[in-house]
Amino acid sequence: MTNRELLSFEDFRRARLNDSGFMVITDSARPPIVHRLNGKCVSAENFRTKVVVEQRASGTYYLVDTVSSGVKELGASVCKVCKPLKADKEPWKS
Ligand SMILES: [Zn+2]
Repeated sequence: MTNRELLSFEDFRRARLNDSGFMVITDSARPPIVHRLNGKCVSAENFRTKVVVEQRASGTYYLVDTVSSGVKELGASVCKVCKPLKADKEPWKS
């Protein structure tokens, strides 16, 4: 299994600390998108709202091993903001 849904804030926090893999965010209003795990697009506040408060009604979060598994398994497109395929330089990391 190369993708795993993040169901709690603790899952989310651990995934970001491990910093291994990528985040796929699904949204009821848009197609899913693959992001850098610790990129600026992925916000703890949004995770809390979508997953914890709204109980995944408006979107879900998946941890994937690779960008291509997010694309193949979840039908995600690749984020143009945090550009997860460019793994060499990471100036957007905080
Ligand atoms: Zn992004």
